[in-house]
Amino acid sequence: MPGTTILRARVAHTPRDPFTTSDALETFDDGAVAFADGVIVATGAAEDVLAQHPGAEVQDRRDCVLIPGMVDTHVHYPQIPVIGAMGLELLEWLAQRTLPEEAKMADLAHATKAAERFTRLLAGNGTTSALVFGSHFPQAQHALFEAADRSGLRIASGLVVSDRNLRPELEVTPDEAHAESTRLIERWHGQGRLRYAVTPRFSVSATEEMLGACRTLLDEHPTTLFTSHVNESPGEIAFVKQLFPHSRDYIGTYEDAGLLNDRSVLAHNVHASDEELHRLACAHTAVAHCPSSNAFLSSGIFPMARHVEHGVCFGMGTDVGAGTGLSMLKEALVAYHVQMVRTEGQMLGPAQLLYLATAAGAKAIGLNDLAGDLTPGKQADLVLLKPPPNSTLEAVLEEAPDWNAALGAIFTLAREECVVETRVSGEIVHTRTK
Ligand SMILES: [Zn+2]
Repeated sequence: MPGTTILRARVAHTPRDPFTTSDALETFDDGAVAFADGVIVATGAAEDVLAQHPGAEVQDRRDCVLIPGMVDTHVHYPQIPVIGAMGLELLEWLAQRTLPEEAKMADLAHATKAAERFTRLLAGNGTTSALVFGSHFPQAQHALFEAADRSGLRIASGLVVSDRNLRPELEVTPDEAHAESTRLIERWHGQGRLRYAVTPRFSVSATEEMLGACRTLLDEHPTTLFTSHVNESPGEIAFVKQLFPHSRDYIGTYEDAGLLNDRSVLAHNVHASDEELHRLACAHTAVAHCPSSNAFLSSGIFPMARHVEHGVCFGMGTDVGAGTGLSMLKEALVAYHVQMVRTEGQMLGPAQLLYLATAAGAKAIGLNDLAGDLTPGKQADLVLLKPPPNSTLEAVLEEAPDWNAALGAIFTLAREECVVETRVSGEIVHTRTK
């Protein structure tokens, strides 16, 4: 068919869930992905795909590994400058380093620059879809949506709303939060590849009235997402207990407000009871697992095996700026590290890491019909990875005996310098020339 493009490369993806099946990983040493009008029409051995599409434009990328576009389920757009702020736990990190940085977003020129840079860096790291924690300032949030729209990425995000315990310039009344969020939803939700996520910062900074305003927004705009933080650090959890004496637990603060459903994504959930996990599974609410952030702020180690056991859906998030960078490849390595050192940790291998970086995230943020793997019918969201010449990764890949070894090496060694091309719906959104 005219207009079909074929990328010939080494291809790997996880069309099935490796936490429930042993044959989740699908790979092709000399593989190809064909797409037309942004939609994948074939994925398989190059010989077969080429024979099925004789008129297609073929791009020979056999020096690259092709994987699905990666999905970051939790990342803060204003926080790039605070990456690497060491030596602090969550509440002091927020007060000393992060909230002052977020206050700078009141300046529209600063916010516009930050939005442009943020979306460029996501694409440069091979991230094609993200659920982005926005800014407290409507104009800055508008700037993010404008940059995201131009970038071609699939971005869900929203104005962050709070009415206590932050800094005065970051707080608004529930009525103001409702009015400003409504304006942004009407302008941006469903525009191109953008979606809106109703976003109270966390229960520490939101009264019951503010959470009620968030519930009203979800009722008025039932296709919007909901996102916030939960059960991140012991100090935060103790504070929430004081603030919500009538709630059963931290999950209960959102549950009581009617905010948990299958479009809700809660970041962290490091310290969760079995009962909380059970209720999350029943509500079909997803969790964004952010391993580098949890280690960086000394928050704790994610109980992944218990999430799997309870059937809670989870994807992975970089949680920049507490997270240590925008690379989902690195985030997957940290997930592996912390599960290896945890007592009763979840054993992870290359198939699980690839799934967590791609399809798991797509499922968590409601994009699994569109993205996350390379099954025909899905959008052509793709990343081409290539080790820099003379790098350690190049040396390991040259000797790798099989795909487990190759993917293990990629997650261990590949970072943004290896992302040579990123595509969303077949369109190039990032390319690295050297
Ligand atoms: Zn966060």
